[in-house]
Amino acid sequence: MTAAPEQFLDEKKSLACIHCGLCLGSCPTYLETGNENDSPRGRIYLMRAVQDGRTPLSDTTVRHLDLCLGCRACEAACPSGVHYGELLEATRDHVEHHHERSPFQNFLRHVVIEQVFPHPERMKLALFPARLLRRAGAEHLFPKFIRDSLALLPSEMTEGVLPEVSPAIGPRRGRVGFVRGCVMNVMFGRTNENSIHLLNRAGYDVVTPRDQGCCGALHAHGGNLAAAREAARVNLTAFGREPLDAIIINAAGCGSTLKEYGHLLAGDANAAAFSTKVKDLSEFLVSAGFQNSQFAIRNSQIKVSFHDACHLAHAQRITQPPRVLVKAVAGANYVEMPESDVCCGSAGSYNLTEPEMAERLQTRKVANILKTGANCIVTTNPGCLLQMRAGLDRAGAPHVETLHIADYLARALG
Ligand code: SF4
Ligand code: SF4
Repeated sequence: MTAAPEQFLDEKKSLACIHCGLCLGSCPTYLETGNENDSPRGRIYLMRAVQDGRTPLSDTTVRHLDLCLGCRACEAACPSGVHYGELLEATRDHVEHHHERSPFQNFLRHVVIEQVFPHPERMKLALFPARLLRRAGAEHLFPKFIRDSLALLPSEMTEGVLPEVSPAIGPRRGRVGFVRGCVMNVMFGRTNENSIHLLNRAGYDVVTPRDQGCCGALHAHGGNLAAAREAARVNLTAFGREPLDAIIINAAGCGSTLKEYGHLLAGDANAAAFSTKVKDLSEFLVSAGFQNSQFAIRNSQIKVSFHDACHLAHAQRITQPPRVLVKAVAGANYVEMPESDVCCGSAGSYNLTEPEMAERLQTRKVANILKTGANCIVTTNPGCLLQMRAGLDRAGAPHVETLHIADYLARALG
């Protein structure tokens, strides 16, 4: 279907690209295909061409845009300060309103991703038969797509039981809010519990409002900005009841959206104030000096490496704090990973909507992990954990452990 020209891009921001190409080497899809249309520069050109009516919103155009991971590595590399993530979200919103997708893609995007993932109770229901199938070892009876999706499920899932207020341990330094996340609390509940424990050990009361909801990242990245704004408003109310020193999140993908509520709800002063309080768990712990007070004499014997979640490294530009914490435990047993900041192919729900490219990037990531010789890979995002785990298992490397940084630190504390 051909869309009529429509101003969906911020004109000034879309013209900021000077076509220098310095972002190309950081773009995972360009690294894989070598196609200019699969690069940031090419995609910005396509976005502008669609907006100006020079290119129809054809299947081919949408294909190149869909293949973008939204990892924002290009944004971090760009000397011209192009806000690629904002351009992509606006374009995806336009695409979803003007382009007809296949029934299967519609089902994945608008039912599974939009209607199930952001709702923990629905997600638990949907995962129940999937987990039974896996336990029965019946995956081989299904086509590849289903087998690969089942392989992403963690072998153990723990739902977080989070008190509304969890008091500081030791001298009290302040009071913070905690965002429990959707996938995090259904699949990585223990990680949430450990995150709160770390914050308590750092001297903070932790408030986890019961009426908080999905952060809106899945909607924003998938092209439904109206639903993302609605989700943001729910959280502004939930976290707005009492003064908090900070609002902590332990999932990089959610964190970058929470930090952009000020942009999502432009003109809303509460949204901007909320965003300035949002801190990634690693960022907050390091600013609180956790690495000095808790791990001064620890030195784990396990060789450890770190994978940069895209939405922490590129969208939030946080690369050192998690390394500071991991190194505080691992000491000389820490090893850097080649291409540690190249996307693993998870990218939110990308591994469901674009499984082929997701698998290529997963294979690339696993090869880089194995080059480190590490027995344990630490990261800060649930999607990366699931993607790397499935890739390592498929590559015959189940001995390489994958851990969220909160679990890694909590284990070191004993
Ligand atoms: S997005 Fe930035 S780095 Fe990439 S071509 Fe445009 S100006 Fe250059
Ligand atoms: S967001 Fe990632 S995949 Fe998309 S153009 Fe930028 S670097 Fe490439």
